[in-house]
Amino acid sequence: MIFAAADPENLAMRPNQRVQKLSLSTTLALDARAKELAAQGRDVINMAVGEPDFDAPEAVQSAAVAAVRSGKVRYTPAEGTASLRKAIAAHLTETRGVAFTPAEITVCHSAKHALSGACLALVEPGDEVLVLLPAWVSYVEILRFAGAVPVEVPSRADLGPDLARIAAAVTKKTRGILINSPCNPSGYVMTAKEVRALSELAEQHDLWIVSDEIYRRLVYEGEPNVSPVQVSERARARTVIIDGASKAFAMTGYRIGFCAAPQEIAMSVAKLHSQLTGCPNMVSQAAYENALAAEPREVAHMCGEFDRRRRVIVAALQKLGLETPWPRGAFYAFPRVQAFLDARGSAGFCEDLLEEQNLAVVPGSAFGVDDSIRLSYATSLATIERARERLAAFLARKQSPSRTAR
Ligand code: PLP
Repeated sequence: MIFAAADPENLAMRPNQRVQKLSLSTTLALDARAKELAAQGRDVINMAVGEPDFDAPEAVQSAAVAAVRSGKVRYTPAEGTASLRKAIAAHLTETRGVAFTPAEITVCHSAKHALSGACLALVEPGDEVLVLLPAWVSYVEILRFAGAVPVEVPSRADLGPDLARIAAAVTKKTRGILINSPCNPSGYVMTAKEVRALSELAEQHDLWIVSDEIYRRLVYEGEPNVSPVQVSERARARTVIIDGASKAFAMTGYRIGFCAAPQEIAMSVAKLHSQLTGCPNMVSQAAYENALAAEPREVAHMCGEFDRRRRVIVAALQKLGLETPWPRGAFYAFPRVQAFLDARGSAGFCEDLLEEQNLAVVPGSAFGVDDSIRLSYATSLATIERARERLAAFLARKQSPSRTAR
């Protein structure tokens, strides 16, 4: 048990205040609980987990095996191998349409590692950093750990950025803004106009932008995702891109990602990681390099499947009477369930749903928005249909007084 209470007899051996204040990732905790119930023999449907249900592409697997078989699995430079950094720079230049050099890339163990490295390298104690709600579970915790004061800004009803509110949240202490498009948990993809407005705001107030683009490849309709680096040279000079292999290439367990930033910041992250973690896993670096060389054919197939499931799940949720903002990207639906909540909020809703119907989904409270729940559709259509039946049964039982009264 990770968070057992401290032994009162052993006062020396207790975690420090900074770690004690951290909360365990809700999504990982829920995933663990769902797996525990499944291990007890219960027929659990796990829609809490944020990872593709596809295997990594064949080319990725063979590159990993070849790297192991070469016998040359050694330390690499802290910032990653020269060849992978070159491949990432070329990939960014192609996909963002803005020239990048290898010196601006630091390879990390994952996007999460890149994000925490970037925050630790940028934040001074007490800096305020804007976080747009709903926000992925780790942003607030990472920022706090880095010494920042996260300032959460609610979004519009369609879960897009509320530019007036964001501008109003800027104070003299604001140093940065963290954006995530496509968004986990809402699936919202920012428009070019929104990205431009946010970049201009950052420029006006001299803020850095950390742009988490891990779901960039997973946009199913309309205009593709836009990065602040595409807005202008000035925006590019204040932006750190976070990206990686987990979602686009179904490589979650490989743990590989990167940050791309002006050289001084990229190298500061590498310096930090040289002391904390050494270097990224060499086998995964080789596998990722292969994925970037030419997009594996499996990726388009995976995206097509996600798109199909997206339409099915959103239609099903809407049919159940749950208002669901239309997700253009990522692989999550984020329906509103406020009419079904009791005093325990979305956490209690999800607890009951898991215990009663063996269906694991994530409470919106984990993302700072308590009126919703997140369902991952990185699971088969047949599973989505079974989940719909369970959710329907659950909602029927939970019919809220406000609904019955209508
Ligand atoms: N950023 C967002 C928005 C995510 O949803 C996730 C994973 O769920 C990550 C970053 C981390 O990705 P990685 O697996 O590369 O650490």
